Amino acid sequence: RQALGSLGKSRAKFISAEEKTGVTFDDFAGQEYIKRELQEIVRILKNEEEFQNKGIYCPKGVLLHGPPGTGKTLLAKAIAGEAGLPFFAANGTDFVEMFVGVAASRVKDLFASARSFAPSIIFIDEIDAIGSKRGGPDIGGGGAEREQGLLQILTEMDGFKVSTSQVLVIGATNRLDILDPALLRKGRFDKIIRVGLPSKDGRFAILKVHARNKFFRSEEEKEVLLEEIAELTLDFTGAELQNILNEAGILTARKDLDYIGREELLEALKRQKGTFETGQEDSSEVPEELKLRLAYREAAVAVLACYYPDPHRPFTETDIHSICSQPNMRYAETSGKVFARKSDYVNSVVRACAPRVIEEEMFGVDNLCWISAKATLEASRLAELLILQTGMTAFGQAYYRYESDLVPNLAAKLDTLRDEYLRFATEKCSSVLQEYHSAVETITDILLEKGEISAEEIWETYKNAPRIPQPPVHP
Ligand code: ADP
Repeated sequence: RQALGSLGKSRAKFISAEEKTGVTFDDFAGQEYIKRELQEIVRILKNEEEFQNKGIYCPKGVLLHGPPGTGKTLLAKAIAGEAGLPFFAANGTDFVEMFVGVAASRVKDLFASARSFAPSIIFIDEIDAIGSKRGGPDIGGGGAEREQGLLQILTEMDGFKVSTSQVLVIGATNRLDILDPALLRKGRFDKIIRVGLPSKDGRFAILKVHARNKFFRSEEEKEVLLEEIAELTLDFTGAELQNILNEAGILTARKDLDYIGREELLEALKRQKGTFETGQEDSSEVPEELKLRLAYREAAVAVLACYYPDPHRPFTETDIHSICSQPNMRYAETSGKVFARKSDYVNSVVRACAPRVIEEEMFGVDNLCWISAKATLEASRLAELLILQTGMTAFGQAYYRYESDLVPNLAAKLDTLRDEYLRFATEKCSSVLQEYHSAVETITDILLEKGEISAEEIWETYKNAPRIPQPPVHP
């Protein structure tokens, strides 16, 4: 067999080839069912002949979809590593160039390279860049070129005979919804696996994988600390969890300590989480005025969370220790069968307005800061989701992925409707915060004094605070 190094120079620019990835399924943690499914494929790949005699064939294509950083690339490399096959990787965005014909010829090159080392694995990351729906909106231009590339992928995949498949194509995307359906047809990417955000147990397992080469005082302490971090990292991806451990390692070295401790881990977590709008890394130096604004923000968010409680995702605590663009309120793991009704979507817009409404009320409309800007962004995003994607509003029952999908008169309609929802949400939010103004003040005081507040304390304050009745707000 040829050495991989003989891959031509022009190809090497966009294809990365590895003889052995050295990655195994042990490197991927959480979501055990994904590994079980893929292990099956590896078994077939390794004993292709034996399985074929029984009439079992390896799928030609596996599509991994889910948010960035959840381990899709890692899984593709693990399949290659476990099966002991060479790995050819390219990125969908590399196929799309200005020059006519480049996309199709690069696809051809990629498949030809992989075939000359077959059995082998091809990995195409961000496959949506080339494989999005034909005839759809031409985001970013290069539509015709992309279409040629997509057609070439389809041709290549249809080209291998089932009995000598020998090249497994793995695609990754976080935009399954925009892929051309032709790619998902039988005989192409016929195995579709969702790689989602890890659960708490999954996060604990991922942290353990990345703590393998790190020093802790003892095994017991390590378990306790990682368990705590797993608890605090709802909605974090595997890549982010890995970063936390790396950052904690760096902090430990900087302080000349031998072992990673709780303090370093929490500091690393804070850094991973926080976009430090003020540019200050040390939260003990948060200016007093910003601290006050943060405390009001968290208090307003807390009151709205009590007013429109989410039964499936109760809040647990909040604090003003770190400066994040999103409120610091933390929530429990989602539980039970969640079904969101229209009112839940609307309430989420109302809740999102809280930081802006309270800041305007306490500091004045000419004295708003980025806290309000971020809240406005989030509230508009949620309103747009309700209008464009749920089909529950006067906008109509179609689903629109992007505002750019809209023809001009629909764009105007969206503007009007979004304004209406945001006006209602702001008024409703303002009415709730006035009714519970005393609770807002008490929670703010507790936050300024102790830096943090638990769900129990929030609920107690909310229930016992005197209320100022308000006139109803109409949608
Ligand atoms: P994606 O391809 O989904 O964007 P990657 O595979 O590039 O994500 O993930 C980046 C890194 O994050 C991986 O190399 C790995 O170190 C870490 N990682 C992500 N998910 C996991 C996981 N489930 N288990 C262990 N490590 C993970």
